[in-house]
Amino acid sequence: MSANENVITHIRDLLGPKGWIGAEDGPAIAPYLREERGLYIGSALGVARPSSADEAAHVVEICAEAGIAVTAQGGNTGLVGGGVPFSGEHPAIVLSSDRLTRIRSIDAANRTITVEAGVILADVQKAAAEAGLLFPLSLGAEGSCRIGGNLSTNAGGVHVLRYGNARDLVLGLEVVLADGRVWDGLRGLRKDNTGYDLKQLFIGAEGTLGIITAATLKLYPRPTVVETALAALPGITEAMELFGRIAEAAGGAVNAYEVMNRFAVDIACRHVEGVRDPFAETHPQYALIELAGQTDGLRETLERVLAQAIDDGVAVDAVIAENIAQGEAFWAIREAIPEAQKREGGSIKHDVSVPLSLVAPFIDKATQALEAVLPGIRPCAFGHAGDGNIHFNISQPQGMDKDAYLEHWQDFNARVHDIVMEMGGSFSAEHGIGRLKRGDMYRYKSDVEIDLMRALKRALDPDGIMNPGKIFQ
Ligand SMILES: Cc1cc2nc3c(=O)[nH]c(=O)nc-3n(C[C@H](O)[C@H](O)[C@H](O)COP(=O)(O)OP(=O)(O)OC[C@H]3O[C@@H](n4cnc5c(N)ncnc54)[C@H](O)[C@@H]3O)c2cc1C
Repeated sequence: MSANENVITHIRDLLGPKGWIGAEDGPAIAPYLREERGLYIGSALGVARPSSADEAAHVVEICAEAGIAVTAQGGNTGLVGGGVPFSGEHPAIVLSSDRLTRIRSIDAANRTITVEAGVILADVQKAAAEAGLLFPLSLGAEGSCRIGGNLSTNAGGVHVLRYGNARDLVLGLEVVLADGRVWDGLRGLRKDNTGYDLKQLFIGAEGTLGIITAATLKLYPRPTVVETALAALPGITEAMELFGRIAEAAGGAVNAYEVMNRFAVDIACRHVEGVRDPFAETHPQYALIELAGQTDGLRETLERVLAQAIDDGVAVDAVIAENIAQGEAFWAIREAIPEAQKREGGSIKHDVSVPLSLVAPFIDKATQALEAVLPGIRPCAFGHAGDGNIHFNISQPQGMDKDAYLEHWQDFNARVHDIVMEMGGSFSAEHGIGRLKRGDMYRYKSDVEIDLMRALKRALDPDGIMNPGKIFQ
């Protein structure tokens, strides 16, 4: 029996028949090896599916001893190829969290929930709601992404401007280290200044420093009042001006502020059933606004700010949802955009952030830069503008061959990211580095920053078995 076969037998014996999917299991392994958009197809000896932190620790220990790489995987909805294994110098296994799905406890008085890494984000939200509380992390993939993946990518989503990114929602972590030991840092404390804040190292590390097996998360009071509005605007400059006005008037009650340009709304309505533009006229720019809180008066605030904005020419028209269904219909436009883009042909993507004051200049400058290279491109600019985060995705010119268009991917990325970096922004606002953005990381981060990152990697994973080929080249 070869060394690899030995390891497989060992893990299979440990986890039982439900706990291992091997190459011999045929198509069952395929979804674990393929990145969401098919950009990467990986290879692995198999998929380990532990059902407890102890089992996960044993799997890592076995792999560490045999020099086998371990790629952690949650819902595999990440968009940078981070969760797909690549056998470089080490053969690899996937360690899936899809059987680590227990909600261990809810402490309503402490406003915390402790969940295993494989709990689907929507199930964390549901468990919090059943306890009368709110877990505010919310994103398009919430029905399939898992909390371990959310923390490992430091996911953002639609409520960052009020509650912060995933890292702001974590009080404690349980992590399997690269040598198979378990660090139990599952504390539920809002104040704990006892040395380095180790949990923050593993959050956003994309599985390159250890495997998160459980987390203690912050919960919040559930808002009793939610007001949703859709504003039609002359352009992105006005959309950012309106955001400033809303933030000033509503303070901490701004739950979400999303923008969508005309093209984004058009394709959402054209390609996704049930999605429609509520305005009679077409407008160049839309903003989706959500206020939420415990007190009445939010609707009046929204009405006042929007009416003033229309008087001042900042907005052209606005509609405030009369009921939950109408609010959901506004959100449906925003949520339909990624699917609509797929159906519209080739799309070159950028997930970037710039200071709030530079969102409009960025979109203008980047659009002009790309139009100069390839006339007819169709920018689909949408996203979390209240965080300065724009999904600046560029659909192919009409009639152009898709493959020929996608050959511009690297060139477009370089041009757009150069503009972003000149503006003090980030070339990856939400999705991390994975495999896709490693080149950008080396291009834009300083040597000092890369050295610090490498030093941490060496300290925590000296043999380089934790998700090799991700973040680092
Ligand atoms: C339609 C759609 C909308 C999206 N919207 C957003 C959005 O608004 N904001 C946003 O931030 N992202 C968004 N994403 C991207 C994606 O959903 C997030 O990155 C999500 O957090 C990934 O979770 P996952 O469980 O799918 O992780 P995976 O894709 O399985 O893994 C992601 C990374 O985390 C690592 N990892 C996974 N589990 C663990 C673990 N237990 N321990 C250590 N490392 C682990 C993996 O190795 C990989 O590097 C969207 C994706 C889609 C398809």
